Amino acid sequence: KKQERNIRNIMRNRLPNQLLDILETAGKMAEEIGTEAYVVGGFVRDVLLTKTNFDLDLVVESDGIEFAKKLAKKMDGRAKYHRKFKTAVVILPDGQRVDVATARLEYYEYPAALPTVELSSIKMDLYRRDFTVNALAVHINPPSFGKLVDFFGSQRDLKDRTIRVLHALSFVEDPTRIMRAVRFEQRFNFRIGGQTLSLIKNALKLNLINKLSGYRLVHELKLILNEKAVFSSIKRLNELGVLEAVHPMLTLNSARTQVLAELEKVLSWYSMLYLEPPIAVWKTYFLGMCMGLSKAKMEQIYDRFNFSQSERREFVHLREAIFWAAGNIMNIKQDLKPSEIYEILHPVPLEGVLFIMARTKREAIKKYISQYLTSLRLMKIDVSGDDLKELGLIPSPQYAKLLKQTKLACLDGIIKGKNEQIDFLKRKIKEFKPQRQT
Ligand code: ATP
Repeated sequence: KKQERNIRNIMRNRLPNQLLDILETAGKMAEEIGTEAYVVGGFVRDVLLTKTNFDLDLVVESDGIEFAKKLAKKMDGRAKYHRKFKTAVVILPDGQRVDVATARLEYYEYPAALPTVELSSIKMDLYRRDFTVNALAVHINPPSFGKLVDFFGSQRDLKDRTIRVLHALSFVEDPTRIMRAVRFEQRFNFRIGGQTLSLIKNALKLNLINKLSGYRLVHELKLILNEKAVFSSIKRLNELGVLEAVHPMLTLNSARTQVLAELEKVLSWYSMLYLEPPIAVWKTYFLGMCMGLSKAKMEQIYDRFNFSQSERREFVHLREAIFWAAGNIMNIKQDLKPSEIYEILHPVPLEGVLFIMARTKREAIKKYISQYLTSLRLMKIDVSGDDLKELGLIPSPQYAKLLKQTKLACLDGIIKGKNEQIDFLKRKIKEFKPQRQT
């Protein structure tokens, strides 16, 4: 058996000291208590793939909650726990989180597919995971610190870049794994293995996706839509028939495909700018996936995803704001002044503005939107309500109107600097006062 690989040196070379320190401390503690401790899952996968991952998942073959409490004490952190699931998280002073789970044979239902030989708690824990690439463990007890525990051919699959389930009933046990398979496949540019692909197709034939709650579906969908390779993932979900299984109205057509491809470009451009506030990327993609659906049909989609009333209202508003603004901006014949761009786009949530940018084919409009996002939207004026008060105006809704007029004038470059803004306000107040008296 080639279970004997030790990756201690790889870990020492690739991990920040602070993570190594946690692993070594936890390993020593395990040894003292007389139990076995492992770091498992995505963390190990990413060490081997040389990707950064700070999510430490520990599995101990003793009471995980007791272990977490002890570790927290030793490292000046605090422990929070779930008695019911026998899991805990240790939060260290620098904010680093360490998840601790318990692997004990008596907690597991014996899976029919596993032969009785060679049973250990860690093996059982790993067997319950989604894919071989996520089913690696590294022993952290001092005598064997760094020893890789690979029961299911994980290293081979990492090398062959294959996403493979651990057993034939995996998707029946948990159909969300279908979406997870696509997510990892596209993230790492791996391929879903042949057998695993047939198991996915079977699961879809059995309508297993139908049995998933809206909550779990949205959760997995959001994870996909927040990854880097969103467009290829959505295409893959479509090709496999997952989108259709979620809802027949979600299958891709050429208009959606085009917009989603463009959205990926627009969103990656936008994310490079590091502007505030951060946007909910998934919402923008979700708009693209639902493009062309009427308001009534959208209700069916919201139903399938079990959106709350407030989420529904949010999307209804988002879609209406887009409809209104896109209509206005597309109808423009002559050049737009900055203030006009601002007035059209300002009422639209940023997710919607980016969607309009991706949907339009007109370069001039893309430019306007870019100008709005990177400058117009962020421009601040130098006057405020305090200045209006000082000018003797009694606080009223007129304040907001005057400040907005100032802003629009500034955007168009008609006035510059605080002095001109004050003069502008004085003029406007004069114009407005006589009107009030008549
Ligand atoms: P990411 O890099 O996206 O955080 P991850 O591999 O850490 O990926 P998580 O969703 O954080 O994924 O899950 C942690 C571990 O728990 C996974 O590595 C996997 O072994 C296991 N896991 C998570 N979800 C499932 C599931 N639905 N079925 C089986 N195992 C799962």
